[in-house]
Amino acid sequence: MTLSDPTAEQWAAAVAAVRALGADDEIQLICHVNPDGDALGSMLGFGLGLRRLGFGRVRATFPGEFRVPDPYRSLPGSDLLVPEAEAWKNADLVMIFDVASESRLGGLAGLLADAPASVVLDHHASNTGFGGVRLVDPRAAATSVVAEQLLSRLGVELDSEIAECLYVALATDTGSFKFDLTTVAVHELAARLIATGLQPGEISRRIFDSRPFGAMKLAGEVMGRAVLEPGAAGGRGMVWTVATLDDLERYAQPPYVLDTLIDPIRSVAEADVSVVVKQVAAGEWSVSLRSKGAVDVSGVAVAQGGGGHRLAAGFTGYGEADAVVDTVRRLLDEYLN
Ligand code: AMP
Ligand code: MN
Ligand code: MN
Repeated sequence: MTLSDPTAEQWAAAVAAVRALGADDEIQLICHVNPDGDALGSMLGFGLGLRRLGFGRVRATFPGEFRVPDPYRSLPGSDLLVPEAEAWKNADLVMIFDVASESRLGGLAGLLADAPASVVLDHHASNTGFGGVRLVDPRAAATSVVAEQLLSRLGVELDSEIAECLYVALATDTGSFKFDLTTVAVHELAARLIATGLQPGEISRRIFDSRPFGAMKLAGEVMGRAVLEPGAAGGRGMVWTVATLDDLERYAQPPYVLDTLIDPIRSVAEADVSVVVKQVAAGEWSVSLRSKGAVDVSGVAVAQGGGGHRLAAGFTGYGEADAVVDTVRRLLDEYLN
């Protein structure tokens, strides 16, 4: 990995890529599959900024089923969103948000490959180095930090709509301003965003503290079957659980409700590493990994074709759930020995 903060040349190239466009040129924004708050928030916030600059043909999309998680449905700029089939096919500029590797673009990877110009905004340490102009800052707490800097360099003033998108992205990726990358600069950015008139309490209730009763019951069941292995991860301990499509069906819940289950699981004091194995299809699992610091879980994720950050990463596993957990256990032991 040879990543560093964006250089002056990279910032200048990104600004030039936008300034080279006419008001009627097509700009396609894309974020990662199964989008989270940072993917959607950074993309829509930037899309609104492009609108403020006078660009009339901006679309935003993500690969896979066109289903926005309920907490993010009311994000400003949601009218920019289209299903992947309606993405501009010959866009003059393609911009990528919060995507660590091309595999996270699913069927939209070709759009990027064919684009006459592209800009990648990201903050994953595991970013694989794809795309044209690359604004990849592994020290940024969220992709929205990078997006805000580019907006500022383009002369876009923050308003409450742009700010809400960027704030939701920042708040979700920092775990409500409590993870390691929550620096002075992060709080200063949050302050500037809130100063546009945001109501952080209302936003937090909507994004973090609101879920269907069935999702709460489902979470209880999945947490109830968690397994603690004190000897795993070289004696640092691992806690893991599995959630299946059958679980979702029994509680009539959409898949995204499983994505926050890693939070109560990773709070287990006896384990450095936490794992949630979420079924995506028969024999296919989305695996969330977290560490409290002893392990670089992005190494485990990358070894399995995934990616992420040192303390938060993920990959797609195949086969039986138990075999996926076995693989994680083995890779952790290899990593620690
Ligand atoms: P999650 O557990 O889904 O919240 O993801 C934790 C981190 O790992 C996020 O930064 C994700 O972008 C990243 N991540 C999760 N799954 C994958 C994957 N299959 N490939 C690359 N990065 C991933
Ligand atoms: Mn993300
Ligand atoms: Mn992110």
